[in-house]
Amino acid sequence: MLEILYYLQGHQSVYVGIVGAGIGALAAAIALRRARVAVTVLEAAGELLEIGAEIQMTPNVSVLLQRWDVADVIEDSLVQIEELNMRRKDGTLDGHTDIPVVEKALGRPWWLVHRAHLHEGIAVTAKRLGAAIHTNSRVVSLDHQAGGKVTFDLCRGADGLNSIVRSTLFPDVRPDAKTTNCAYRAVIPYERIRQDSIAKELIQKQTMEVWMGCNAYIITYPISAGELFNLVLSHHRPEKVYATQPDVPTEELRNEYKDFDPRIKCIVDMIHETSRWALLVTGPLKSWSSPQKNVVLMGDAAHSMVNHMAQGAATSMEDGAFLAKCIGAVVQGKLSLRKAITLYEVERMPKAFLKQQVSFLNGAIWRLAHGPKQQARDAAMAPDLEREYHVRSSNIYGDPQTVVDVYGYDVKVHAEEALEHFTNAEKDEYLGTGIVPGLEKYMGWFMKLPANQPHSKL
Ligand SMILES: Cc1cc2nc3c(=O)[nH]c(=O)nc-3n(C[C@H](O)[C@H](O)[C@H](O)COP(=O)(O)OP(=O)(O)OC[C@H]3O[C@@H](n4cnc5c(N)ncnc54)[C@H](O)[C@@H]3O)c2cc1C
Repeated sequence: MLEILYYLQGHQSVYVGIVGAGIGALAAAIALRRARVAVTVLEAAGELLEIGAEIQMTPNVSVLLQRWDVADVIEDSLVQIEELNMRRKDGTLDGHTDIPVVEKALGRPWWLVHRAHLHEGIAVTAKRLGAAIHTNSRVVSLDHQAGGKVTFDLCRGADGLNSIVRSTLFPDVRPDAKTTNCAYRAVIPYERIRQDSIAKELIQKQTMEVWMGCNAYIITYPISAGELFNLVLSHHRPEKVYATQPDVPTEELRNEYKDFDPRIKCIVDMIHETSRWALLVTGPLKSWSSPQKNVVLMGDAAHSMVNHMAQGAATSMEDGAFLAKCIGAVVQGKLSLRKAITLYEVERMPKAFLKQQVSFLNGAIWRLAHGPKQQARDAAMAPDLEREYHVRSSNIYGDPQTVVDVYGYDVKVHAEEALEHFTNAEKDEYLGTGIVPGLEKYMGWFMKLPANQPHSKL
């Protein structure tokens, strides 16, 4: 996803054109409208929709859905789970996270939702706030040298994974499959699973389950108000995969997971159609913007990542929220657009890179071959089973450090601190404590707790 920015010299007025209407783009539109910035969204497709079923809205972005009132629009579709169970492929329980404990510690929910419902909720909210959204509006090229006038018909470009605007700015950059890893996706109605005497054992509670195998894993969780059981099935192919492959034969899928726990295998056997999704990584890029700082990338266009931390769309939403804070400061006359874009790049590029790396790491942990590393992994998450939460866990979804760094991240706080720091650059110290933006989170979280919030177990 990409934004075209146009700065009216001499005015504190910024008109933002967003190319694409994916989750990131529409989140950016909401954040910009809330900062009173005029915004037009151009989407190539004939209607606003999302491909694929599932999406996790982890606590770093569920908080945005709450603040932006999107959660109210889609509240009937949102699902919360009781626990995350980490299993070996034979079903043996290795690790566990009480998701409500994480939610309580962070003060935010961990939601599972159907992409179509999320996308619609974000689109409805963006429109209510006054964003102009045009479908059937493919941007075909971009002249970021032009100044003085924007005619969106002439804003020629693209966004998302195969962003034409990125290729206009950085012709040599291509999203790459770093490994031969890819994913099948599927949904099965809960009603169907309830009728199966073996599989129904798995749905006694609303849980997220991960089955870890050698070079393959399955993650499952409920979506659509608990009506659909969602599966993402990670595997490897002999060759790298660069595009979604529709209509994969189900025999291939069944064969891939034939020696998994019979309960999940039963559910895999219920899948009658599936596609294979490429897991393409973009960057890290040297820059996310044009030299004139009037075109800027965000989301998958800038930093697509593998799916193992469920952070692609989340990172895109964070980009949109951060950038909107910066543009809001431009509108208020606090800094120039050039500085705002620079600040966005300086602060957000390392965050996106960290997410790309943690995502690789989690995939590697979940797909370890049987042997000493796998045994060490399992031993390091075993205390979870006794509810003995240690300072580290190989179960990254529940590892205290990752929980703080990824799920506890608050893009609003980050942007506000960065702006404060940036606009008071003469100060060497932040708030007189020597703490710089980014590290303040280690103290700021407990200074902002309501007085009556009970201590968390984490
Ligand atoms: C198996 C799998 C599971 C995942 N699970 C999660 C998860 O649980 N949580 C999570 O946060 N992320 C997840 N992701 C990642 C997430 O799907 C993406 O990172 C996210 O959708 C990217 O959003 P975006 O808005 O940046 O781009 P996109 O969603 O790709 O949106 C791009 C939009 O731009 C439009 N467009 C393209 N070209 C043009 C043009 N020239 N003119 C106008 N419009 C154009 C497209 O039609 C599209 O609407 C997962 C990914 C995979 C593959």
